[in-house]
Amino acid sequence: MPSKRVISPSIGVLTKKKKISNILNGSAVTDEASLTEIKKEAKTEEARKNCNADDTSIKSGDSIDTARVKVEVESELSPNIFPKVDPGDSLKGPANWAKIYNEIVEMRAKFFAPVDSQGCESMPNTITPGLKLSDPKKYRFQLLISLMLSSQTKDEVNYDAMINLNTGLGKKHAQGFCLEAMSQLSETEIDSYICKVGFHNRKAQYIARTCQILKSEFNGDIPNNIEDIVRLPGVGPKMGYLLLQAGWGINSGIGVDVHLHRLASLWHWVSPKATTPEKCRIELESWLPQNYWSDINPLIVGFGQVICVPRASNCDICALGRKKLCSAANKKLLKGPVSEDRKSKLMKQRADLTNLINEYL
Ligand code: SF4
Repeated sequence: MPSKRVISPSIGVLTKKKKISNILNGSAVTDEASLTEIKKEAKTEEARKNCNADDTSIKSGDSIDTARVKVEVESELSPNIFPKVDPGDSLKGPANWAKIYNEIVEMRAKFFAPVDSQGCESMPNTITPGLKLSDPKKYRFQLLISLMLSSQTKDEVNYDAMINLNTGLGKKHAQGFCLEAMSQLSETEIDSYICKVGFHNRKAQYIARTCQILKSEFNGDIPNNIEDIVRLPGVGPKMGYLLLQAGWGINSGIGVDVHLHRLASLWHWVSPKATTPEKCRIELESWLPQNYWSDINPLIVGFGQVICVPRASNCDICALGRKKLCSAANKKLLKGPVSEDRKSKLMKQRADLTNLINEYL
């Protein structure tokens, strides 16, 4: 199991506001008991800053900077802990899958990727801390919308669109960002809030139609089975299984996105016949024990967002390359330590990779 964090005894005398202020100023210390609460509050503080701007004033350049700040704020808080593979489970499946998985768990404990705070599952809670517990129905609705916006769109851009919706609907409706408020918007109005995401026109149509279906067929809530979910316009199995896991606690399938599909193929976890995310899901589910089905998406997606990125893998700071666990590693990058030139390039990734870079300098 991953090692426990060192806890500072001094945190007990700090007020919550002061703790948050310290976190946002980059000088945080905190204890395990209040960690989750403080983490959520810190995110809210950032979200509130974003919400002070008019809906139309958020520029894409500004938002990416905000995203980086948020990831850095996260990195002050805690390691990113995913459970490792139980030794008994490693006997099934492709050779070395458990070694690879466990190395990624260790690497992911050293950085926060965009998916950790701005991925679909965490986004409603990032925008409104505690929403999943305080209003599960509203959480599920916002989760569905963030999933519908997410295809062909970076998490940071999706996050800005969700902030726009939250701000705009908060001004229009007493209940804020909820099904009732959204269903009163025209397609054009929805489009104006989400205009930075890929295929926004089509997604605005899908969202407007989905709102009507949820009201007329599902009593204003999200369906709790994959068959009904994938009948919603613009919603596929990847979104459906993630929605069931995070929204209903139902672990009935793996959410396979482009990163997981690409990397499962790279490590030969699936056969060359798995040419689509859906075929990849079926092959993965044939051997991966079910208790890893919900972790594998955020674990691998975060790795694919900043370490093994498409077309520019950072093999020199990847434990799989250094430990000869990946046949696709770039051998030139693995020669010698990380150079200053490479270090400056690595520092421009979508997350703070200092901890990994320092291992290989
Ligand atoms: S060694 Fe390189 S190609 Fe292989 S997983 Fe790591 S970053 Fe990707």
